[in-house]
Amino acid sequence: MARAISEPSGELLWSLTKVNFGYNGTPVVCDVSLELRRGCCYGILGPNGSGKTTLLDLMGGLLMPHSGMIEFMGRPLHVWPRKQLARQLALVPQDFMVRFGYSVREVVEMGLHPHLHRFAAPSETDQVLVDEALEATGIAALANRPVTRLSGGEKQRVAVARALAQKPAVLLLDEATSNLDIHHSLEILHLIRGRFERQGMQVVAVMHDLNLASFFCDRLIFLKQGQVVCQGPTEEVLTPENIEAVYGVEAEVRSNAFTNSRQVSFRLPLNR
Ligand code: ADP
Repeated sequence: MARAISEPSGELLWSLTKVNFGYNGTPVVCDVSLELRRGCCYGILGPNGSGKTTLLDLMGGLLMPHSGMIEFMGRPLHVWPRKQLARQLALVPQDFMVRFGYSVREVVEMGLHPHLHRFAAPSETDQVLVDEALEATGIAALANRPVTRLSGGEKQRVAVARALAQKPAVLLLDEATSNLDIHHSLEILHLIRGRFERQGMQVVAVMHDLNLASFFCDRLIFLKQGQVVCQGPTEEVLTPENIEAVYGVEAEVRSNAFTNSRQVSFRLPLNR
């Protein structure tokens, strides 16, 4: 049963009403109803296979619900023209695949496409945007390298740079730091949080690491077997009871002055 706690009051970005989706007849997202509003960084969490990526893809318009309704900025998602949607929404996927040997710079430039007229070349201002995205994600030195010759972590940073070059109103991140070491993870999360706080870019992030999510997200949505188990402000939702209900592990949650967020320690239940 979904439990909503102190709803935020910003403009409604997404409204999901009784959304269902499955693959080959197996339900994966089950009766999900959610409202996501401007002014919060949202985190979507849950065990492997709980439907996080599928839910994010539904919110990004990459998949269509089998039943139910998704509205984005007041309009049904399926009626948004693709290019118009791409001006509002950028998605950083979990597995960023570019098969051809485009250079890093060329891939980041692809983020400009939703804003360019057909066949128009990027302007000088656009090139500055690309330079900034390369610098901000720490990959400027790789600009001329073929993306096929990058490590997993470097590719993830290219995917973030391309999304930032897209100048989206909303950024969807699917475990965007899963291949990054802790230094690069924190750098990317600080960068994105900075865009949220200073430029109003809204963020919805599927996250794996509860401690990084606690430090990065204002609100959390916990999924289990395709259903929303609980959602609300991070400090209210990140409790030992919810973590045990969702992940089946015992948890201790403490306020941590060092990170200025709640931090969680885990262990398998002793009575297993
Ligand atoms: P999560 O992101 O929480 O790990 P996913 O949304 O990726 O969960 O997957 C949810 C379930 O759907 C899993 O059981 C997964 O195997 C299945 N699944 C995901 N993508 C596909 C697909 N393209 N075809 C068939 N099954 C899929």
